[in-house]
Amino acid sequence: MFDLVVKRAHIVGESHVAYANLYVKDGRFAAISSEELAARQSVDADGRIVFPGAVDPHVHFNDPGLTDGEDFNTGSMAAVAGGITSVFEMPLTDPLTQDKPSFLLKKSEAARKSVADFGLYLALTPDNSSRVGELMALEPVGFKAFMSYSPEIPMVKDGELLAGMRAIKAANSRIAVHCENNDLITYLTEEIKRSGRSDPRAYVDSRPDYSEWEAIQRAVTLAVIAGVRLHVVHSSTPEGARIVAEARAAGHPISVETAQHFLFLDAEDFQRIGPFAQCNPPLRAKGNNDRLWEAIRRGEISCVGTDHAPYTIEEKQRGKGSVWATPAGVNNIQTANPLLIGEGIKRNIPLTRLAQLMATEPARLFNIYPQKGAITIGGDADMFLFDPDEQWTIDPRHTFYKQKWTPFEGMKVKGRVKRTWLRGTKVYEDAAPLGTITVQPGFGKFIPGRPGSTAN
Ligand SMILES: [Zn+2]
Repeated sequence: MFDLVVKRAHIVGESHVAYANLYVKDGRFAAISSEELAARQSVDADGRIVFPGAVDPHVHFNDPGLTDGEDFNTGSMAAVAGGITSVFEMPLTDPLTQDKPSFLLKKSEAARKSVADFGLYLALTPDNSSRVGELMALEPVGFKAFMSYSPEIPMVKDGELLAGMRAIKAANSRIAVHCENNDLITYLTEEIKRSGRSDPRAYVDSRPDYSEWEAIQRAVTLAVIAGVRLHVVHSSTPEGARIVAEARAAGHPISVETAQHFLFLDAEDFQRIGPFAQCNPPLRAKGNNDRLWEAIRRGEISCVGTDHAPYTIEEKQRGKGSVWATPAGVNNIQTANPLLIGEGIKRNIPLTRLAQLMATEPARLFNIYPQKGAITIGGDADMFLFDPDEQWTIDPRHTFYKQKWTPFEGMKVKGRVKRTWLRGTKVYEDAAPLGTITVQPGFGKFIPGRPGSTAN
């Protein structure tokens, strides 16, 4: 007797899509069959699509310390409502997640509040690389470093980055790097400020494409020298992704994610929307979205993360008069997958490739596959039912975000998450205009970081 069957579904597997019944037992995928087998609970997919639960390698839930913008409960509710069942949370919280007490504090807050499974990053700072080995006992999913200034985490200089990479290589962990050239940004920002400009275009000009891909090139160079596993976060341009793709093709364990907003918004949207579309790196020139989609098609982008990075409405509104007064980051986690899948289908990207981008590849890169990231027998029954035909309009009031704003407001979407399961338990059920979280805070479990990777 199975615990659950999802009947008559287009099941997105790793190599192909099967029209069949999907069976779950003891929280795991147990069988895919066209036969009718006995199950305690039955859900009729009625020909809709079942995707593996998405694995988001890049979220900011602001917990602990910055919870006016979001917390682990609201952030994870928005995640599962968007089909994301596992999240890797960044260390830019207060206190900074950089040592044992701060890591354990975050872990306990998340364990109490999260409805999604979660892995946690540690910060690589200018002075903690000598402690990387001992910090591995905490089982972080990896270490995060910034090559440019951030208000929440100290940036590392090249030598410090190399030292950290060597230590992380010795620990067989991985490093995720925010790549922007700090000197260039500082110089250009001052120059542009002096000229009196403070509109979104000024911000885009202060952090040009080349300030990003130069830093990606440098991070890749250092990673090759150190031999470390490097994950380049949120590449906004195909040029950055190509640098990684070439290193990867040469046999180096280097991967790259792009962020959802770069696939859907551009600098003209930023000019129109204002501070609520301000992020780092910034939105790029019109046409960049299409070029990123082409990079996805060519296989040069490993995966897509959300980089969901909430701030309060008041904090964002500070930038109405001047972009220099706004913290960078956007709310997007709840609508990310419906947008990605809807647009992917429109662009004839195979469903199996979309599943790779949002679930399988991040799971492989962070070595939690096949427990996570794919509909595979024996893996955790993390999945979501998706209606590819339902049309709706994004309204931030109908999200679980603690702060009801998103730069995607008003955008029309084709396709909607109808139901999400985590380890075989329903965690979200859709209803217009906003569905229900069907588990208690704390249902989400800690995902221990594992060394190595099973990425191709
Ligand atoms: Zn981020």
